[in-house]
Amino acid sequence: MGYDLALIVGHVDEELLCPICADVLEEPMQSSSCEHAFCRYCIEKWMQEKQICPVDRSDLMPIHLVPVSRLMRNMLGRLKIKCCFAENGCTALMPLEEYRNHVANCQNNPKVVVMCTKGCGMRVPKDELSRHNCVFELRQQLQDHINAIPELRDMQAHQERRLGEHRRELELLQYYIATLRATNPVIRTVGDQLDRYALMRWGRGLPLASVRTWGSLISTPDMPMRLMVREGLRASGCPMHLMEILLDCCHEDSWPEGLTTLEMRRMNLHRLAQYVTRLLPIVITGKPCVVILGGDNAHMPENLRPVLGVIMIFVDGVDETHPEPAPLPDSDYL
Ligand SMILES: [Zn+2]
Ligand SMILES: [Zn+2]
Ligand SMILES: [Zn+2]
Ligand SMILES: [Zn+2]
Repeated sequence: MGYDLALIVGHVDEELLCPICADVLEEPMQSSSCEHAFCRYCIEKWMQEKQICPVDRSDLMPIHLVPVSRLMRNMLGRLKIKCCFAENGCTALMPLEEYRNHVANCQNNPKVVVMCTKGCGMRVPKDELSRHNCVFELRQQLQDHINAIPELRDMQAHQERRLGEHRRELELLQYYIATLRATNPVIRTVGDQLDRYALMRWGRGLPLASVRTWGSLISTPDMPMRLMVREGLRASGCPMHLMEILLDCCHEDSWPEGLTTLEMRRMNLHRLAQYVTRLLPIVITGKPCVVILGGDNAHMPENLRPVLGVIMIFVDGVDETHPEPAPLPDSDYL
């Protein structure tokens, strides 16, 4: 576009002027054949129409355009230019390369953007500040937001539909997997391992528990209790596909053989204290609910070891325990 000749202080050599815009060369480029120089912007715009030099009409292709000589760059570099907002009070005088940046941020530029100090915090062009009305602008902004709500609602409804579709696909997939597990022993083994792993990962996030009175165990919970356990499982992040399985294991009918009757439990009472037990969030379950995971209890005898895990509900007598901190390294070693 060229620097405004009228703003340059002192004499400007004629060869530093762009033949197209007649101002001082900005980002000058020259033709490698005829050596005429132009602003980059001016000549590129020109060449969209014609592929000839605007001065002598010789051939000019984009490939012929090269940066101008060092001599010419030095001559341009010595020029000083005034700010175009001198009339508004700017006294700045600067080399050409600083000009564009200065003008964009010049405090005397009426279009420079400033922050409203009356409280709305909006950024407003300086020359509009006197007409600026915080309440009006904020009301406008509020209206824009209100107008955007129906679209956001549509988007949300769309996402919910997609989610529903995905859920149905997932259920179908789980059904297929269940069928495969029922018919293919290899897949059954892999599936069982993955389930144990998923349960252990979840279990590690639950606090350890210690049961003081096994006599307060509820071995045949009713429906409201089961619902409470379900909420506890859900809230503690139990893997969804294992929730029902675990939930079915809160009744003595589904417990390992050594726990299925009161007599058996009395017989094994001395061993029950060896269980590693974990506590479901008691604020949700109300009564203390303890999870005994197979993965935690590999040390138990087979007739007391759950396959995946069991849940036991107690009237009371369960404490949350904090594991002992790991022992410090041997002092001889240090
Ligand atoms: Zn020009
Ligand atoms: Zn030329
Ligand atoms: Zn200025
Ligand atoms: Zn304001």
